[in-house]
Amino acid sequence: MATKSIKDADLSGKRVFVRCDFNVPLTDGVISDDSRIVAALPTIQNLIAQGAKVILSSHLGRPKGEKNAKYTLAPVAEALAAQLGQPVTFIEDCIGEEVEAEVAKLGDGEVALLENVRFYQGETDNDPEFAASLAKLADAFVNDAFGTAHRAHASTAGVAKFLSPCVCGLLIEKELAYLGEKTNSPERPLTVILGGAKVSDKIKVIDTLLEKADTIIIGGGMAYTFKLALGQTVGDSLSEPDFVSTAKAALAKAKEKGVKFLLPVDNMVVKGLDFGAGTFADSKVVEGSIPDGWEGVDIGPKSIELFNAEVKNAKTVLWNGPMGIFEIEACNKGTFAVAKTIADSDACSIIGGGDSVKAIKMAGYGDQVTFMSTGGGASLEFLEGKELPGVSALDQA
Ligand code: AMP
Repeated sequence: MATKSIKDADLSGKRVFVRCDFNVPLTDGVISDDSRIVAALPTIQNLIAQGAKVILSSHLGRPKGEKNAKYTLAPVAEALAAQLGQPVTFIEDCIGEEVEAEVAKLGDGEVALLENVRFYQGETDNDPEFAASLAKLADAFVNDAFGTAHRAHASTAGVAKFLSPCVCGLLIEKELAYLGEKTNSPERPLTVILGGAKVSDKIKVIDTLLEKADTIIIGGGMAYTFKLALGQTVGDSLSEPDFVSTAKAALAKAKEKGVKFLLPVDNMVVKGLDFGAGTFADSKVVEGSIPDGWEGVDIGPKSIELFNAEVKNAKTVLWNGPMGIFEIEACNKGTFAVAKTIADSDACSIIGGGDSVKAIKMAGYGDQVTFMSTGGGASLEFLEGKELPGVSALDQA
């Protein structure tokens, strides 16, 4: 089944409730990064061109169900109007008679932005009464907020019960295409690179991707639990002894499925790491087991070579999670080297959200990959094969 998108719907003249992700970073009321606004433009422009009455909504921060000027979406309305080159009416609430009266004034192709939906507890509670109040403003529903699609909230899922059609925007359509179709029926070989902090956070993703990938590469903090599973020692490295049996099961599954499973063969290890200061007392590269008193903070040069050779062979690459503590410059070599190889490759490259997106941008290769997901938790849950409530609430073809 495929989720219907705004391309499959005729929304001209309709009042359309559009859930966006305008959860932008604000410093003293000023937007410091407008990429989420820019990412929402194609859908909004498509709706304007269709002649829809566009009613935008979003959350911003965590106001915990109370009105709080600190989390107002007013600056977003201003930034959006500048980007669109047309007025955006900011409405100082998101439900109620006054909002309904304001929305009723919208002409075809005109745009309004509602105030933060999380000013009401009913939003995160997915309260049907609150969802009905939101839905009263519109005829149709467009969800384009991938970053919150894994949450069943009133504005991401609840409103769908009251509106028709319910379709996704162009941003979610693209996320579903890359994280879904392109990884489910990939051009092979499909190489998956997983890193980040914990095995416990990503074991479901590993398990699901073992069904699809030709090669799985594990780096980052996760790799040390796998090292324990191989009978190696890890010194003071991040590891989860309770998950050693889980790691062993993943290794066995890879063998059974014929999936090539690569772990780091060497690591950069340090003593006396101070994460806040970004410093350490001593460092070296070790192969195999990590001695007592040392902590693994990055993959080593041989691992970089091994992983890169595999990435170069791939026709599809999916990457989620850094290879080391990339926030510290001296520990970012592995992550940045993998980022460069992915950027240089002709393969379809999919960056699965969160810290890998941050890392590839930091490395300066953000514009050299095929697709970067806008979701952190949502992309992970989707890659695990879970249904996203904000997507399953929409019309399916
Ligand atoms: P995740 O959210 O699971 O993708 O994890 C990202 C975090 O994993 C980043 O903040 C990294 O600093 C951290 N990380 C990566 N490698 C290591 C490591 N070897 N030891 C501790 N933390 C790590």
